[in-house]
Amino acid sequence: MEFSDAISELESGGAPLEAVERLLLANPQEEKELFSLADETRERHVGKSTCVHGVLEFSNFCKNSCLYCGIRKESPVKRYRMQPDEIVENVAWAAKELGYKMVVLQSGEDRHYTGETLCELAREIKKRCNIILFFSIGDRTQEEYASLKKAGADGVLYRFETSSSELFEKMRPGTSFGTRMAHLSFFHELKYLVATGFIIGLPHQSSKQLAQDILSLGKLKANMISIGPFLPSPLTPLASQKSPSLPLALRALAICRLLYKKVRMPVTTAFETLDPAGRQKAIFAGANSLMVNITPRKYSQCYSIYPNRFGEREEIEKLTREAIEFVQGIGRRVCRGYAKDLRPQFSAPACAE
Ligand code: SAH
Repeated sequence: MEFSDAISELESGGAPLEAVERLLLANPQEEKELFSLADETRERHVGKSTCVHGVLEFSNFCKNSCLYCGIRKESPVKRYRMQPDEIVENVAWAAKELGYKMVVLQSGEDRHYTGETLCELAREIKKRCNIILFFSIGDRTQEEYASLKKAGADGVLYRFETSSSELFEKMRPGTSFGTRMAHLSFFHELKYLVATGFIIGLPHQSSKQLAQDILSLGKLKANMISIGPFLPSPLTPLASQKSPSLPLALRALAICRLLYKKVRMPVTTAFETLDPAGRQKAIFAGANSLMVNITPRKYSQCYSIYPNRFGEREEIEKLTREAIEFVQGIGRRVCRGYAKDLRPQFSAPACAE
Protein backbone atom coordinates (compact mmCIF):
# COMPACT_ATOMS: atom_id res chain seq x y z
CA MET A 1 0.00 0.00 0.00
CA GLU A 2 1.23 3.51 -0.80
CA PHE A 3 1.94 5.81 2.14
CA SER A 4 -0.41 8.47 0.75
CA ASP A 5 -3.24 5.92 0.41
CA ALA A 6 -2.74 4.85 4.01
CA ILE A 7 -2.95 8.49 5.14
CA SER A 8 -6.11 9.06 3.06
CA GLU A 9 -7.75 6.00 4.57
CA LEU A 10 -7.14 7.30 8.07
CA GLU A 11 -8.23 10.82 7.17
CA SER A 12 -11.47 9.59 5.69
CA GLY A 13 -12.34 8.22 9.10
CA GLY A 14 -11.58 4.61 8.39
CA ALA A 15 -9.28 2.63 10.60
CA PRO A 16 -8.13 -0.29 8.56
CA LEU A 17 -5.48 -2.46 10.07
CA GLU A 18 -3.49 -2.53 6.86
CA ALA A 19 -3.22 1.26 6.67
CA VAL A 20 -2.11 1.56 10.30
CA GLU A 21 0.46 -1.16 9.78
CA ARG A 22 1.75 0.58 6.67
CA LEU A 23 2.19 3.87 8.57
CA LEU A 24 4.06 2.08 11.35
CA LEU A 25 6.55 1.02 8.69
CA ALA A 26 6.96 4.53 7.24
CA ASN A 27 10.44 5.32 5.94
CA PRO A 28 12.33 8.41 7.24
CA GLN A 29 10.95 10.63 4.46
CA GLU A 30 7.34 9.48 4.99
CA GLU A 31 7.79 9.65 8.73
CA LYS A 32 8.51 13.39 8.59
CA GLU A 33 5.22 13.88 6.77
CA LEU A 34 3.41 11.66 9.28
CA PHE A 35 4.72 13.68 12.24
CA SER A 36 3.84 17.01 10.67
CA LEU A 37 0.33 15.82 9.82
CA ALA A 38 -0.08 14.65 13.43
CA ASP A 39 1.16 18.00 14.70
CA GLU A 40 -1.28 19.87 12.42
CA THR A 41 -4.11 17.62 13.59
CA ARG A 42 -3.21 18.36 17.21
CA GLU A 43 -3.17 22.10 16.46
CA ARG A 44 -6.51 22.01 14.66
CA HIS A 45 -8.41 19.82 17.11
CA VAL A 46 -6.96 20.52 20.54
CA GLY A 47 -4.97 23.69 19.93
CA LYS A 48 -1.98 24.90 21.85
CA SER A 49 -3.13 23.98 25.35
CA THR A 50 -0.69 21.58 26.88
CA CYS A 51 -1.24 20.16 30.34
CA VAL A 52 1.43 19.25 32.83
CA HIS A 53 0.21 16.31 34.89
CA GLY A 54 1.80 14.89 38.05
CA VAL A 55 2.34 11.23 38.90
CA LEU A 56 2.91 10.20 42.49
CA GLU A 57 4.01 6.60 43.01
CA PHE A 58 2.84 5.82 46.52
CA SER A 59 3.86 2.16 46.89
CA ASN A 60 6.12 -0.20 44.96
CA PHE A 61 4.85 -3.37 46.62
CA CYS A 62 3.31 -5.65 44.02
CA LYS A 63 1.76 -9.08 44.12
CA ASN A 64 2.22 -9.62 40.36
CA SER A 65 5.11 -11.02 38.35
CA CYS A 66 4.85 -9.10 35.07
CA LEU A 67 7.91 -10.11 33.07
CA TYR A 68 8.65 -6.54 31.94
CA CYS A 69 8.24 -4.71 35.23
CA GLY A 70 11.11 -3.84 37.58
CA ILE A 71 8.84 -3.81 40.65
CA ARG A 72 7.44 -7.32 40.03
CA LYS A 73 7.19 -9.33 43.20
CA GLU A 74 10.45 -11.26 42.58
CA SER A 75 12.43 -8.06 42.05
CA PRO A 76 15.16 -7.35 44.65
CA VAL A 77 14.16 -3.67 44.70
CA LYS A 78 13.84 -1.98 48.10
CA ARG A 79 10.13 -1.70 48.91
CA TYR A 80 8.32 1.32 50.30
CA ARG A 81 4.81 2.39 51.15
CA MET A 82 3.74 5.95 51.78
CA GLN A 83 1.33 6.59 54.62
CA PRO A 84 -2.03 8.04 53.54
CA ASP A 85 -1.40 11.37 55.30
CA GLU A 86 2.00 11.62 53.62
CA ILE A 87 0.36 11.04 50.24
CA VAL A 88 -2.25 13.73 50.93
CA GLU A 89 0.42 16.22 52.04
CA ASN A 90 2.46 15.66 48.91
CA VAL A 91 -0.50 15.97 46.56
CA ALA A 92 -1.68 19.11 48.35
CA TRP A 93 1.80 20.61 48.04
CA ALA A 94 1.97 19.79 44.32
CA ALA A 95 -1.48 21.30 43.77
CA LYS A 96 -1.06 24.43 45.90
CA GLU A 97 2.63 25.24 45.51
CA LEU A 98 3.34 23.92 42.04
CA GLY A 99 -0.05 24.45 40.42
CA TYR A 100 -0.85 20.87 39.38
CA LYS A 101 -4.42 20.39 38.15
CA MET A 102 -4.28 16.68 37.54
CA VAL A 103 -2.50 14.06 39.60
CA VAL A 104 -2.24 10.31 39.13
CA LEU A 105 -1.71 8.17 42.23
CA GLN A 106 0.09 5.06 41.09
CA SER A 107 1.29 1.89 42.79
CA GLY A 108 2.02 -1.76 42.29
CA GLU A 109 -0.84 -4.13 43.03
CA ASP A 110 -0.73 -3.60 46.76
CA ARG A 111 -3.62 -4.90 48.86
CA HIS A 112 -2.11 -3.34 51.97
CA TYR A 113 -4.23 -0.31 51.06
CA THR A 114 -7.80 -1.48 51.57
CA GLY A 115 -10.68 -0.16 49.50
CA GLU A 116 -11.66 1.97 52.48
CA THR A 117 -8.14 3.41 52.88
CA LEU A 118 -8.13 4.44 49.21
CA CYS A 119 -11.57 6.05 49.59
CA GLU A 120 -10.38 8.00 52.62
CA LEU A 121 -7.41 9.14 50.60
CA ALA A 122 -9.59 10.29 47.70
CA ARG A 123 -12.01 12.12 50.02
CA GLU A 124 -9.22 13.92 51.84
CA ILE A 125 -7.43 14.96 48.64
CA LYS A 126 -10.62 16.18 46.98
CA LYS A 127 -11.54 18.08 50.12
CA ARG A 128 -8.20 19.86 50.17
CA CYS A 129 -7.35 20.32 46.50
CA ASN A 130 -9.20 21.29 43.36
CA ILE A 131 -7.62 18.73 41.09
CA ILE A 132 -8.58 15.91 38.77
CA LEU A 133 -7.60 12.79 40.65
CA PHE A 134 -6.63 9.59 38.85
CA PHE A 135 -5.77 6.22 40.36
CA SER A 136 -3.44 3.73 38.70
CA ILE A 137 -3.60 0.77 41.04
CA GLY A 138 -4.42 -2.23 38.84
CA ASP A 139 -7.11 -4.80 39.49
CA ARG A 140 -9.71 -4.23 42.20
CA THR A 141 -13.32 -5.31 42.39
CA GLN A 142 -16.02 -3.33 40.63
CA GLU A 143 -17.48 -2.52 44.08
CA GLU A 144 -14.16 -1.08 45.22
CA TYR A 145 -13.88 1.06 42.11
CA ALA A 146 -17.51 2.18 42.54
CA SER A 147 -16.80 3.30 46.12
CA LEU A 148 -13.62 5.03 45.06
CA LYS A 149 -15.56 6.96 42.45
CA LYS A 150 -18.13 8.02 45.03
CA ALA A 151 -15.28 9.09 47.30
CA GLY A 152 -14.13 11.57 44.65
CA ALA A 153 -11.78 9.80 42.21
CA ASP A 154 -12.25 11.21 38.70
CA GLY A 155 -10.29 8.84 36.53
CA VAL A 156 -8.29 5.68 36.23
CA LEU A 157 -5.04 5.05 34.41
CA TYR A 158 -5.21 1.42 33.50
CA ARG A 159 -3.35 0.21 30.45
CA PHE A 160 -4.40 -2.92 28.63
CA GLU A 161 -0.64 -3.30 27.92
CA THR A 162 -1.20 -5.32 24.73
CA SER A 163 -4.33 -6.27 22.79
CA SER A 164 -3.06 -9.80 22.24
CA SER A 165 -4.55 -11.97 24.97
CA GLU A 166 -1.82 -14.51 24.34
CA LEU A 167 1.02 -12.02 24.77
CA PHE A 168 -0.77 -10.43 27.74
CA GLU A 169 -1.01 -13.68 29.63
CA LYS A 170 2.56 -14.62 28.75
CA MET A 171 3.87 -11.26 29.98
CA ARG A 172 1.63 -11.14 33.06
CA PRO A 173 1.59 -14.65 34.53
CA GLY A 174 -1.38 -15.36 36.75
CA THR A 175 -3.47 -12.47 35.40
CA SER A 176 -6.17 -12.59 32.77
CA PHE A 177 -6.76 -10.49 29.70
CA GLY A 178 -10.52 -10.96 30.18
CA THR A 179 -10.32 -9.37 33.64
CA ARG A 180 -8.35 -6.43 32.24
CA MET A 181 -10.99 -5.86 29.56
CA ALA A 182 -13.84 -6.23 32.07
CA HIS A 183 -12.28 -3.45 34.16
CA LEU A 184 -12.09 -1.13 31.16
CA SER A 185 -15.75 -1.70 30.49
CA PHE A 186 -16.98 -1.18 34.05
CA PHE A 187 -14.84 1.98 34.37
CA HIS A 188 -17.03 3.54 31.69
CA GLU A 189 -20.19 2.30 33.41
CA LEU A 190 -18.97 3.92 36.61
CA LYS A 191 -18.35 7.16 34.65
CA TYR A 192 -14.63 7.28 35.22
CA LEU A 193 -12.40 9.21 32.85
CA VAL A 194 -10.42 6.40 31.31
CA ALA A 195 -6.75 6.66 30.46
CA THR A 196 -5.51 3.53 28.79
CA GLY A 197 -2.89 2.29 26.40
CA PHE A 198 -0.13 -0.17 25.87
CA ILE A 199 3.61 -0.76 25.86
CA ILE A 200 5.17 -0.13 22.46
CA GLY A 201 7.61 -2.82 21.35
CA LEU A 202 7.10 -5.50 23.97
CA PRO A 203 9.25 -8.52 23.09
CA HIS A 204 7.47 -10.78 20.60
CA GLN A 205 5.12 -7.99 19.48
CA SER A 206 4.61 -7.91 15.71
CA SER A 207 3.84 -4.73 13.77
CA LYS A 208 0.39 -6.16 13.10
CA GLN A 209 -0.17 -6.54 16.83
CA LEU A 210 1.05 -3.00 17.41
CA ALA A 211 -1.45 -1.82 14.78
CA GLN A 212 -4.15 -3.76 16.61
CA ASP A 213 -3.12 -2.14 19.90
CA ILE A 214 -3.54 1.29 18.30
CA LEU A 215 -7.00 0.42 16.95
CA SER A 216 -8.08 -1.02 20.31
CA LEU A 217 -7.85 2.46 21.84
CA GLY A 218 -10.86 3.49 19.73
CA LYS A 219 -12.91 0.45 20.66
CA LEU A 220 -12.13 1.08 24.32
CA LYS A 221 -13.15 4.76 24.05
CA ALA A 222 -10.05 6.12 25.77
CA ASN A 223 -10.40 9.68 27.13
CA MET A 224 -6.66 9.80 27.46
CA ILE A 225 -4.06 7.68 25.73
CA SER A 226 -1.07 6.47 27.69
CA ILE A 227 1.48 4.68 25.55
CA GLY A 228 5.22 4.39 25.92
CA PRO A 229 8.15 2.35 24.66
CA PHE A 230 9.25 -0.85 26.35
CA LEU A 231 12.42 -0.31 28.37
CA PRO A 232 14.19 -3.49 29.53
CA SER A 233 14.77 -3.52 33.28
CA PRO A 234 17.85 -5.39 34.58
CA LEU A 235 15.68 -6.59 37.48
CA THR A 236 13.46 -8.67 35.20
CA PRO A 237 13.60 -11.78 33.01
CA LEU A 238 13.45 -9.44 29.99
CA ALA A 239 16.71 -7.71 30.95
CA SER A 240 18.48 -8.68 27.73
CA GLN A 241 15.64 -7.68 25.38
CA LYS A 242 15.73 -4.56 23.24
CA SER A 243 13.71 -1.34 23.36
CA PRO A 244 11.93 -0.28 20.20
CA SER A 245 13.52 2.63 18.33
CA LEU A 246 12.33 6.13 19.23
CA PRO A 247 11.08 6.68 15.65
CA LEU A 248 8.82 3.61 15.86
CA ALA A 249 7.42 4.81 19.19
CA LEU A 250 6.83 8.27 17.69
CA ARG A 251 5.11 6.80 14.64
CA ALA A 252 2.72 4.96 16.97
CA LEU A 253 1.99 8.23 18.79
CA ALA A 254 1.46 10.16 15.54
CA ILE A 255 -0.95 7.53 14.18
CA CYS A 256 -2.94 7.76 17.43
CA ARG A 257 -3.31 11.51 16.91
CA LEU A 258 -4.52 11.03 13.32
CA LEU A 259 -7.09 8.49 14.48
CA TYR A 260 -8.17 10.05 17.79
CA LYS A 261 -8.06 13.72 16.97
CA LYS A 262 -9.35 15.22 20.20
CA VAL A 263 -7.87 12.84 22.71
CA ARG A 264 -5.47 13.88 25.44
CA MET A 265 -2.13 12.24 24.85
CA PRO A 266 0.78 12.81 27.22
CA VAL A 267 4.44 12.25 26.53
CA THR A 268 4.89 9.42 29.03
CA THR A 269 8.11 9.28 31.06
CA ALA A 270 9.27 6.19 29.11
CA PHE A 271 9.67 8.38 25.98
CA GLU A 272 11.95 10.69 27.89
CA THR A 273 13.93 7.79 29.33
CA LEU A 274 14.40 6.13 25.95
CA ASP A 275 15.92 9.29 24.47
CA PRO A 276 16.73 12.72 25.93
CA ALA A 277 15.05 14.23 22.86
CA GLY A 278 11.94 12.10 23.45
CA ARG A 279 9.87 14.88 24.98
CA GLN A 280 10.66 17.41 22.27
CA LYS A 281 10.03 14.95 19.46
CA ALA A 282 6.85 13.47 20.92
CA ILE A 283 5.27 16.87 21.50
CA PHE A 284 5.75 17.59 17.79
CA ALA A 285 4.38 14.20 16.76
CA GLY A 286 0.91 14.61 18.22
CA ALA A 287 1.30 14.60 22.01
CA ASN A 288 -0.41 17.37 24.01
CA SER A 289 0.56 16.93 27.61
CA LEU A 290 3.51 16.12 29.82
CA MET A 291 3.84 13.89 32.85
CA VAL A 292 6.10 14.92 35.72
CA ASN A 293 7.09 12.54 38.46
CA ILE A 294 6.14 14.18 41.76
CA THR A 295 7.02 11.23 44.00
CA PRO A 296 9.16 12.32 46.97
CA ARG A 297 12.74 11.65 45.94
CA LYS A 298 13.52 9.32 48.81
CA TYR A 299 10.97 6.91 47.33
CA SER A 300 11.15 7.47 43.59
CA GLN A 301 14.55 5.75 43.40
CA CYS A 302 12.78 2.54 44.36
CA TYR A 303 9.92 2.81 41.89
CA SER A 304 12.15 1.33 39.23
CA ILE A 305 9.67 -0.13 36.76
CA TYR A 306 12.54 0.44 34.33
CA PRO A 307 16.07 1.83 34.86
CA ASN A 308 17.32 5.43 34.60
CA ARG A 309 13.94 6.98 34.86
CA PHE A 310 14.11 10.52 33.59
CA GLY A 311 15.03 13.07 36.22
CA GLU A 312 14.58 10.78 39.18
CA ARG A 313 17.32 12.54 41.12
CA GLU A 314 16.18 16.00 40.33
CA GLU A 315 14.04 18.18 42.39
CA ILE A 316 10.35 18.12 41.64
CA GLU A 317 10.16 21.89 41.55
CA LYS A 318 12.90 22.05 38.98
CA LEU A 319 11.24 19.42 36.80
CA THR A 320 7.94 21.23 37.04
CA ARG A 321 9.50 24.56 36.14
CA GLU A 322 11.34 22.97 33.23
CA ALA A 323 8.16 21.34 31.97
CA ILE A 324 6.29 24.67 32.08
CA GLU A 325 9.17 26.51 30.41
CA PHE A 326 9.40 23.82 27.78
CA VAL A 327 5.70 24.18 26.94
CA GLN A 328 5.98 27.96 26.75
CA GLY A 329 9.26 27.77 24.83
CA ILE A 330 7.62 25.92 21.96
CA GLY A 331 4.80 28.44 21.78
CA ARG A 332 2.10 26.41 23.50
CA ARG A 333 0.01 27.30 26.52
CA VAL A 334 0.11 25.56 29.87
CA CYS A 335 -3.39 24.61 31.02
CA ARG A 336 -4.07 26.40 34.24
CA GLY A 337 -7.63 27.42 34.81
CA TYR A 338 -9.48 24.21 35.53
CA ALA A 339 -11.32 25.76 38.49
CA LYS A 340 -14.70 24.27 39.27
CA ASP A 341 -16.00 22.38 36.36
CA LEU A 342 -13.14 20.05 35.62
CA ARG A 343 -14.60 16.90 34.24
CA PRO A 344 -16.59 17.93 31.17
CA GLN A 345 -13.66 19.82 29.75
CA PHE A 346 -11.32 16.98 30.40
CA SER A 347 -13.47 14.49 28.62
CA ALA A 348 -14.16 17.02 25.88
CA PRO A 349 -11.07 16.44 25.72
CA ALA A 350 -9.41 19.72 24.78
CA CYS A 351 -7.86 21.31 27.82
CA ALA A 352 -9.68 23.94 29.81
CA GLU A 353 -8.22 27.39 29.62
N1 SAH B 1 -0.12 -1.60 38.89
C1 SAH B 1 -0.73 -0.65 38.01
C2 SAH B 1 0.28 0.37 37.50
C3 SAH B 1 1.45 -0.27 36.82
S1 SAH B 1 2.96 0.63 36.56
C4 SAH B 1 -1.47 -1.38 36.93
O1 SAH B 1 -1.39 -2.60 36.86
O2 SAH B 1 -2.21 -0.76 36.16
C5 SAH B 1 2.51 1.64 35.23
C6 SAH B 1 2.83 1.17 33.83
O3 SAH B 1 4.24 1.09 33.62
C7 SAH B 1 2.34 -0.18 33.43
O4 SAH B 1 0.99 -0.15 33.11
C8 SAH B 1 3.23 -0.56 32.26
O5 SAH B 1 2.58 -0.26 31.03
C9 SAH B 1 4.44 0.37 32.42
N2 SAH B 1 5.70 -0.39 32.49
C10 SAH B 1 6.06 -1.29 33.42
N3 SAH B 1 7.27 -1.81 33.14
C11 SAH B 1 7.69 -1.22 31.99
C12 SAH B 1 8.87 -1.34 31.19
N4 SAH B 1 9.85 -2.18 31.51
N5 SAH B 1 8.96 -0.57 30.07
C13 SAH B 1 7.96 0.26 29.75
N6 SAH B 1 6.83 0.41 30.45
C14 SAH B 1 6.69 -0.32 31.57
